[in-house]
Order: sequence, then structure tokens, then C-alpha cells
Amino acid sequence: MAKITFLGAAGTVTGSKYLVEAGGKRLLVDCGLFEGSKELNQRNWEKFSIDPATIDWVVLTHAHIDHTGYLPRLVRDGFRGPIYANAATHELCGLLLPDSAHLQEEEAQFAAKKKYSSHNPPLPLYTVVESQHALQQFREIPRSEAFTISPQFSVRPHDAGHILGSSWLELTVTENSKQTLVVFSGDLGRYGQPILNDPESPARADFLLCESTYGDRDHPAGSAADILADVISRTAKRGGAVVIPAFAVDRTQLLMYYLRELEDERRIPHLPVYIDSPMAINVTALYGSHHEDHRLQFQREEQSGKRDPLNLLQVHLTPSVEDSKKINDVVSPCIIISASGMATGGRILHHLARRLPDSRSTVLLVGYQAEGTRGRALQDGAQYLRIFGEEVPVRAQVVEIGQLSAHAGRSELLRWLSGLQAPPQQTFLVHGEPAALTSLREAIAAQFHWNITIPAWLQSFGF
Ligand SMILES: [Zn+2]
Repeated sequence: MAKITFLGAAGTVTGSKYLVEAGGKRLLVDCGLFEGSKELNQRNWEKFSIDPATIDWVVLTHAHIDHTGYLPRLVRDGFRGPIYANAATHELCGLLLPDSAHLQEEEAQFAAKKKYSSHNPPLPLYTVVESQHALQQFREIPRSEAFTISPQFSVRPHDAGHILGSSWLELTVTENSKQTLVVFSGDLGRYGQPILNDPESPARADFLLCESTYGDRDHPAGSAADILADVISRTAKRGGAVVIPAFAVDRTQLLMYYLRELEDERRIPHLPVYIDSPMAINVTALYGSHHEDHRLQFQREEQSGKRDPLNLLQVHLTPSVEDSKKINDVVSPCIIISASGMATGGRILHHLARRLPDSRSTVLLVGYQAEGTRGRALQDGAQYLRIFGEEVPVRAQVVEIGQLSAHAGRSELLRWLSGLQAPPQQTFLVHGEPAALTSLREAIAAQFHWNITIPAWLQSFGF
């Protein structure tokens, strides 16, 4: 009997890992890091529930760390098989995995200095060198054609419209000549966005795994551009800075797109924009080479008379740490876009430490903020935020723009599901916090009358 085991993103949004077993072979779909609370982080350190050396292949839906960030550890602990991903996902992982390793190393060094780690001496979960080892095991698969992994497994990726390269996967599992179609939603994006394509819908699934990040709510209606224009203009008038924790992949480019549009329409003052994330700078360059994944039209300015869609008037790319620190000295109004998107680490921390105590400034939250992160604490109205071991007072305005989310809202999830021509034998809701999971289960039951399961962490199902 074939079997699926939920090794992550079961009852939580992070740590996506699904083990599919058939004909004595093991395929892992996604290999994400748990992120957020201390308890979730701890899971990354526990012994992996099966011996990584016994896994034959990994296949990835997209490059986000909560879907790929455990790969270096898996490889370090004995996984030697190919890691299948499309070209954009491969290139993004080439940036994201070493960066994740770098953050782990920095945190271990910092913990050693401040003596607050439970490991003695403090260790990184994996090193930059170990992340490079994982990257050597990547093998590129087509963007949308079927790809045969083995006699047991064949996979067909479809555009999920969530980030560059993001896919949902149609996995055909063959055991004893019985074929079962298992659909993995990965993370689903939005409809009608300016940069990415709409998510394609599945037509058929025997087993379906559907993400539920926003299973309990829709994104607010209304234009992201209008809110951005309003917040930026008001903050500039007060003489403050707009600080935006943003994921380097896609959220930063979407912000650049909207800012350029607002500049063109003269709806915001001409402010310096700091893209303070070496990764965001590198990721932006990838948009020029992966046209299959987005709607942007890059053209030579002198030919078209128009600016490129991501070309801002006063943009400062600050790859070096020195330049990043100099942004602290900027006292006139400016916009600072920096990672990480949930303020769990990275350069955004020193910008928050500098700007949060300033009541003229604004912190703009533009993406999902997981439980236990600093971003969530800000969203929930925290008065103080712990950064670099200090309590930083929150006097800046905190504004959330839900319209800029990279994740399908509840009705968009239902719209994606409505493509299925027949009910799946079993639908598993994953990648959501408990309230989102139960709420989406009720919505699906009401609209489609399907069998729904919310799997627990480490639970297995035969098929
Ligand atoms: Zn994602």
C-alpha cells in the first residue's frame, strides 16, 4: 500500500514536508524549516523522524525557506538523492539557502557572545558550506511538462502564482499497477495581480493537499496603491521614515512596482527608496531572466519612452553592510525595504531598532506574520519589541496592507478548488494555523460536501 506522512506544516504554517512512499521508494515533497515559536524552532533540532539516507528523492513546490530551508540539514544527515526543482526555484534556492545558513551562523555567534543558547557552545542548524552541499544535489525539471522520477512517481508542475517559480504539483503514484493522483497545492497566490500569473486550477485529484494559510479570512478589499500612497504621503509630511519588512522574493518587487506606478502618477513625493537586502537585489535581477513566470514587460527605456516596471526614481541598492548602516543616519523622509519579512532576523532588525522609537515613522506590514514572530507582535499591537536582547519601545505607527499578501485569501482558495470536476477521495488541509484550518474545512464542507481531514504532525495515511 502507498502511504503519505505529514512531517511538517500539519496544524501549523511552516515546516512543509510530506513523505510519499510507494513500491519501497520514498519521495519527500518539500523540505521546509519550522519557523516562529520556540517550540516550532525546536523541531528543526530534533532527530528527523526517519533516516534521511532512506529518502530517494526530494521535489520542491517553491523556494521559500518554510518549504526548502531544512534541505541542508537533510543532506548533512545523510540524504544523497536528487532534489528536483524548476530553473527559477533552483536559482532562488541558490540565494535563499546560503542566506538562511548565514543567518543561522550569525545567530549562533550572537548567542555565544550573549550566552543565551541552550546549546553549549551555540551551534548553527547548518552552515553556509552545508547549504552549498545541498545545492549540488539540485536537478532542474521542466516548468510545466510531466517529469518521470521513477516507475513509482511522476510529477507535473502547474503555475501556482505565489512567487517566481512557484508550482502546485500533480503527483502520479503507481503501486502494483494502481495509479493514484495526489495534488499538492504548495502555496497558492492571488488572482489579478500585476506581476505574477493567476494560479492554474487542478481538474482532477484522488488525494488533495490544500494550503490553508488564509483559510479563515479574505484579504481586505480596496486598492493597495491607494493605501500605500496615503501612508507614504502622511509619513513624509511628519518627517518620518517608512520601514517595510518584506520578503526578498516577490514582495519587494511588488512594492517596487507599486512605488514606481505611484511616482509616475505623482501620487507620492519623490523619496529615496533603500532596497536594503542583497538578496532582494539579486532576486530582482532574476525577474529579467524568467519571463515564463510573470507578466512584467521589460523594455529598453530609450526605445519605449517608458520606465521599466521596477525602475524607481531615487533607488539606493545597498548590498554592503557599511551602506546598510549608513541608512541609520538618514534623517529626512525615506522608504526602507528590508528582509526578513516577519522580522525574525536580517537587516530589518537594525532598521526597526532605529525607527520604532520614532513616532513620526511608520512600519508597514505587507505579508503573513506567523505566530511567535516579531512581525506578529507588531501586528498585535506590542508596546515593546525585543531586538538584539533589548526592549525597543514601539512609538512608530504600525500599518498593515493585507492587499499585498502573496497568499490566496479564503475565497481565492475556494475558487482554486472549484476547478476540480469531481470530489477527491480525501482532502487534507495543511499549512495553516488551527483556526484557519477548521474554518476552511467548514467552508469546503458547506460549498462542496467533501471529506476533509486535518492531519496531525507525523500522522500517516495509506492509499
Ligand atoms: Zn511560500
